[in-house]
Amino acid sequence: MYIKKIFSFLMKLILSVFFMLIITLTILSCVMTVYFVDMMKTTELITIEDKPFRTHSSIYAINNLTGTYELIYKRLCDNNDIKLSIDLEDLPAHVADAFICTEDERFYEHQGVDYKRTAAAFINELINMYGSTQGGSTITQQLIKNITDDNETTWERKIREIFRAIRLEQSYTKDEILSAYLNTIYFGQDVDGCNMYGIETAAIGYFGKSASELTIAEAASLAAVPQNPYYENPISNYEENQERKNYCLLKMFELGKISPDQYEEAIHEKVLVANMQEFKEKYPEYKTLTHDEFVNPSVNSWAVDTAINEFCETLVKEYNITEEKAFEEFCKGGYELYITINSDIQGELEKNYSDLTFFPKDTDENGETIQSAFVVLDYHGRILGIVGGIGEKESSLCWNHATMSRRQPGSTIKPLSVYGYGIENGLITWSSVFTDAPLDAGVITSEKWPENYNNFWSYKSNTVNYFLKRSLNTLPAQLCVNFGTDNIFNFAVNNMHLDLDPQYDNDYAPLSVGATNRGPTLLNTVNAYMPYGNGGKYYEAHILEQVIDITKNKIIIDNSSPDYEQAVRADTAYIMNKMLQNVINPNQPDNESGTGVTAFLPNKTVAGKTGTTQNWRDIAFIGLTEDFISGIWIGYETGENPYAIKNTKAATVWKNVFGNFANNYSSEASYPECANVKDYHYCTQTGLLAGADCPRSKESGYYRKDYNEYCNVH
Ligand SMILES: [Zn+2]
Repeated sequence: MYIKKIFSFLMKLILSVFFMLIITLTILSCVMTVYFVDMMKTTELITIEDKPFRTHSSIYAINNLTGTYELIYKRLCDNNDIKLSIDLEDLPAHVADAFICTEDERFYEHQGVDYKRTAAAFINELINMYGSTQGGSTITQQLIKNITDDNETTWERKIREIFRAIRLEQSYTKDEILSAYLNTIYFGQDVDGCNMYGIETAAIGYFGKSASELTIAEAASLAAVPQNPYYENPISNYEENQERKNYCLLKMFELGKISPDQYEEAIHEKVLVANMQEFKEKYPEYKTLTHDEFVNPSVNSWAVDTAINEFCETLVKEYNITEEKAFEEFCKGGYELYITINSDIQGELEKNYSDLTFFPKDTDENGETIQSAFVVLDYHGRILGIVGGIGEKESSLCWNHATMSRRQPGSTIKPLSVYGYGIENGLITWSSVFTDAPLDAGVITSEKWPENYNNFWSYKSNTVNYFLKRSLNTLPAQLCVNFGTDNIFNFAVNNMHLDLDPQYDNDYAPLSVGATNRGPTLLNTVNAYMPYGNGGKYYEAHILEQVIDITKNKIIIDNSSPDYEQAVRADTAYIMNKMLQNVINPNQPDNESGTGVTAFLPNKTVAGKTGTTQNWRDIAFIGLTEDFISGIWIGYETGENPYAIKNTKAATVWKNVFGNFANNYSSEASYPECANVKDYHYCTQTGLLAGADCPRSKESGYYRKDYNEYCNVH
C-alpha cells in the first residue's frame, strides 16, 4: 500500500518532468527553427570572386637605352601583402592531396560541413583534450573565413559559416572551391616580412620555385603551415614545421595518396628553405618576391615623388577627396603609373645636383642653406626632368622646391604679365619707345618707384625690346599704370596660367617686377613660358602619362594625347620668342647685351628671361630651346644673409647644369614659323617703322603683318 503510493507519486513526478521537458524542448526547437530560418535568409550568398586582391602600386618610366617602359618604383601595400595565383590544373596531384589529407580528409564527401569533425571538435573543446591535430573547419569553411574576413569567435559566426559553406557548395564545384582555397589562404611571412597569400606565393617565398614544381615533401611542408602560419612557418620555425610535415606525409600515406616508397623518400628528403645557407648555395639566383623585379629604394627619387604627388592631386580634384585619402588609395595598391620622365635628362640633372660645386657657397659662412630646383618640360607639357633640392635626397616625399616652394618670380614675370599683355593686345610693339624713368612720387608709393636693378634711372628713351632684354623695372611699372592691373592680372592668370594670389597679387609691384605675395612655383613659371616657344599653345605640365587601375583593368588618368589651350596669338608668341632670344644673344648692337647672355648655346637658339628678387633672396632663369622649356631657381630657404648669391647668375648655373645636354641634344625641332609676322627696321627715334630718312635700327624688329605705322617725323 505504502510502496504503491510512493510508486504512483514517483510515476506522476517522472511523467510531469517528462512532459515539461518535451514542452520545453518543443518551444526551444521552435525558437531554434525560427532563428535558423531567419539566419538562412539573412546569410548573403558568398561568391568566390568577392575579394579583389590589390598587391602594390608601381611606377614605370621609359629607359632611353631600351626605349621601353621599365619599373622604377614599386610600393608594397602598407600591410605588405603579396599574392600570386596558379591554376589548379597546373598543380601536381600530390600538392592538392597534401592539403586535403591534412586539413579536410573527407573534402570530396561532405557538403561543406564535416559534422563528424564538428562534433569531435565540439567535444574536444568541452573536455579540453590536448593534442588535437585537425580543427573543426572544412576547406570550404576556411575559404569562407578567408573571403569574408569574418574572424569573430562567437557561436553565431560559426553557425553563419556553416550555412555559408552549404550554400557555397551548392554554387561551385569541389575543384573551384579547392582552387580558390589554395589561392587565397594565408601562408605566413617570407624572409622580407611580407604576408604571403596563395600557394604560388608561398612556394616561391619559401622554396624559390613555382607550386607546380613542388616535391611531395615540400608540398607537405606547405600543407603544415595554414593550421598556424606563425608557429608552423618553415623559415622562422623550421623544426616545428618539419614535425608537422611528417604528420602530413603520414596522413597522405594512410589515406593511400602516396606509396610506401614515396613516403619513405619524402620523409628523408631535406627540405631547403630560402633563409638556409645550403639553399643560397643551391639557388644563387634566388630573389624574394618583393625583390623579384626591382629593389624598392629607401628614398624615392624626385621623379617618383612628383608622380605620387600628381597622382594624389588628380584624385583630389576628380573625386573630391582629401589628400590623405588619395595617398591612402595609392598605398592600398593596384595602380600602375606610367610617367613622362626622360631617363637621360633626369640622370643629368640628378648627377649635377648632387655635385655642390655647381652652386654658390654661403660666403658669410653663417650656415644659411642655399637651395635650388630645376625643371625640364617638352612642348606637350611632359615633365622630362625634375629636381627639387641640392645634394643627396634624404627622404621620400620630402619638400620639393620645384613643385612646392612659392617664391617671388622677380623679373621672370614680365613677359607673362605686362609685356605679354601689351603685345597680345596691340598696345605696344617691339620698338615702342619709352623713357627709363620711375613713376612720380605719389602715383603708387610716396617715393619715386620702382628702382632698377642697378639703382640707376637713365631718363633715356629706349625700345620695349631694350627694356625687356636689360630687365629694367621702370617700363613695366609704367605699363601697369597704362594698362590697368586688372587686365594684366587676368592675362597672367587666365592666358598664361600663372598661379597668382587674387587677393594680393593683383597690384603694381607683383605684376610689374614680380614682387608677389605668394608667388608661383618654379614648375608653374616654366610651364607658363611654354606658349612662347610653341606658337602660343599651352599644355599643362604633367608627369603622369597614364595611370591604370589594375583591379578594374581601366585607364583612370590619360595624358597620352593631351589637349592644349591657345594661350596667346601665334604672332604674339613668335614676337615674344624673338625678344627673349635677345636676352641671350651676345651679338647685340652697341654692346648692349641682355641679362641672360651667359646662357648662350652655340648649337641651339636659347630664348629666356632672368629674375632676381629683392636683396638677391631668389635668382631664377627660364630658358627655352627648340626642344625644351626649362628653368632654375636658386635661393635661400629662409632669406637670411641674402647677399651670398649676389654675384651668381642663374643663367650661368642653368647652362652649367643643363646647357651641355640641351646644346648637344640632336633633333630636327625648331620654333614654329609664323606667317603673320614680318621683320622690319625701325626708326630708333620714334620706334615706328623706318622711312627712307629715319635713323634706322641696326637690327630688325618683329611686328604683326598688318602693322603699318611708319615714322612720320623724318
Ligand atoms: Zn623716323
